Amino acid sequence: MTKVLYPGSFDPMTKGHMNIIEQASELFDEVIIAILQNPSKKTGLFTLEERMEIIEKLYQKRNNIRVISGSGAAVDVALLHECKAIIRGLRSLSDYDYEVQLQQINKEVSNNQINTICLFADKEYQFVSSSVVKEINNLDKDISRYVDPIVQERMMVKKRGKM
Ligand code: ADP
Repeated sequence: MTKVLYPGSFDPMTKGHMNIIEQASELFDEVIIAILQNPSKKTGLFTLEERMEIIEKLYQKRNNIRVISGSGAAVDVALLHECKAIIRGLRSLSDYDYEVQLQQINKEVSNNQINTICLFADKEYQFVSSSVVKEINNLDKDISRYVDPIVQERMMVKKRGKM
């Protein structure tokens, strides 16, 4: 049985992330989505608990997709859950430069146990990012093309709470 880890901030989860998860779930026996606190992205929209609740709801009917959260390094989480590889999504050259460095470090610190597999979102989701979704939502524009209705609803509630 081949398990893979898909780590990220998912603040919020977009249709780009969901497209990568869908592809990974067809390739591997189990996909573990790891919601990790990214120290360089301190100002989050949703707390880890809120993200967990949202993503669990999105995948509650899928028995080969699991959701976990934590604050450690993705490579340690992958080892702990006996994953064969880390899944990352590639959008641009800047993503590529960063991922090349990250995969090398992850291989080294795990003594070659954790490899990285990069997938590409389908073209309609290639350029969707959590930060752009947050910006568009703040401008009161429609985000339904970029996020699931469950995420859209939670973003609306969050925004109303801040007004
Ligand atoms: P991180 O803080 O680790 O970058 P993100 O939640 O922003 O976390 O993204 C998690 C992973 O999903 C990263 O590998 C990122 O490149 C990928 N990703 C995000 N959006 C897309 C998209 N639209 N298409 C392909 N990959 C994506």
